[in-house]
Amino acid sequence: MSPDASSVSAVSAGNEADRSPLTTTRQLLADLQAYHARVSVLQEIATAIGRELTLDGVLQVVGRRVKWLLDFDHCSIYLNRAAGSSDFIPLFGSSSGQTIFKTASSSNLIEQVIQTKQPYLTQNDPQPEMGAGYRSYLIIPLESEGDVLGTINFASQAPHHYRQEDLRIGHLLTMHLAAAIRNANRFAEVNRLYAELAQTYDDLRRAEQLRDDLTRMIIHDLRNPLNVLLGSLEILELMLDAPRQAENRTKWLHDALSAGRGMVGLIDDLLEVSKADDQKLQPNLAPVDLVKVLAEKENFYRAQAEQEQKMITMQAVEGLPPVMADVRLMSRVIDNLINNAFKYTEAGGCIALKIEEKERGLQVQVQDNGQGIPPEYHHQIFDKFVQVTDTAGAPLRKGIGLGLAFCRLAVEAHQGKIWVESVPGQGSTFIFTLPL
Ligand code: ADP
Repeated sequence: MSPDASSVSAVSAGNEADRSPLTTTRQLLADLQAYHARVSVLQEIATAIGRELTLDGVLQVVGRRVKWLLDFDHCSIYLNRAAGSSDFIPLFGSSSGQTIFKTASSSNLIEQVIQTKQPYLTQNDPQPEMGAGYRSYLIIPLESEGDVLGTINFASQAPHHYRQEDLRIGHLLTMHLAAAIRNANRFAEVNRLYAELAQTYDDLRRAEQLRDDLTRMIIHDLRNPLNVLLGSLEILELMLDAPRQAENRTKWLHDALSAGRGMVGLIDDLLEVSKADDQKLQPNLAPVDLVKVLAEKENFYRAQAEQEQKMITMQAVEGLPPVMADVRLMSRVIDNLINNAFKYTEAGGCIALKIEEKERGLQVQVQDNGQGIPPEYHHQIFDKFVQVTDTAGAPLRKGIGLGLAFCRLAVEAHQGKIWVESVPGQGSTFIFTLPL
């Protein structure tokens, strides 16, 4: 940028003839000394802002010292920001914003300077009519590496206040200021990227930690039922030649089967949840008679209920229509809810399955009268690995906190909803709907 001589009219020459050569020389010397003093201040400012890394720091330095450089009643910085926004930062005087830089005809002098990349300097009469009693203006673009970052604006209530010299000094100031602002912007960008990187690193560490915890939990959760399975099979083997042990054989067979099914269920949950993470959980839709599915479940879990001295019941409204669903996924959702009802209910407890039509959908309920869930967990338990903790903060661990996450993913993949209604100490009702 170079100060545009054409936008600046000649400084009032005065009556040259009245001046003797000595007076003129003295005047020139005084002007030169004043100019030299301003250049020294400018160097000081340049050194000080060169040390600042942040925009705030740069603006504070300029705000504190610019008065030594130029005289004004108002000084401000206007900065173009990313995505079309801008900032008007008053450094001195009126903070009434950029309105004072608007002429009566409403053309905005700052925008004009930014667009033309030329400074604006008021000198001629009549002065443009602008706000707050200001009569002289000096607006200089802040240009760095070919871009106009904004402007520095000076206003004075005195008429004819700014001269070519002021423009020159202002121009020198903007060269340093624009470079410092650009550096501060780069520094802020580097800081932002660094913070992003640090956050990514933290996320990665947390994910690694979670993976390690999960691996440990899965090994533990698979080892237990595997031991039950092997133990039951070994006992069964011993009983093969003992015909009078027929009744006990059924019990051990049941234990082995339920341990094996538990393991498969856990592995399936893991696979399904990781599929959903990769957005590959696509339900295979076909008409499904959910009443029939629930009745089969009631039948299947009756033996377990008897063994654990619990009760399982089912209640269905007659003539319910089939629903478009993935029968495999729905069957596992119901299995997960029933298994939880068993896990979190003491002997003597009751598990009730219900199905009815509601709001153009089918609504399935799995109700238990077990330990219940505190209200603050009602939403969270559908997130991965969330488990209700005891008063000391330790999870009441009977699983790994994947079952309900799978249920929500599967139900939502059917455009349905799932939630829980529960009172601690009284029991829980898990409800899900599927649209008809
Ligand atoms: P988990 O494998 O731990 O059972 P889930 O995702 O199936 O994982 O359940 C998450 C948590 O929700 C459980 O750890 C438990 O604290 C709570 N929860 C789930 N179902 C019930 C229920 N029927 N009664 C009480 N608490 C339950």
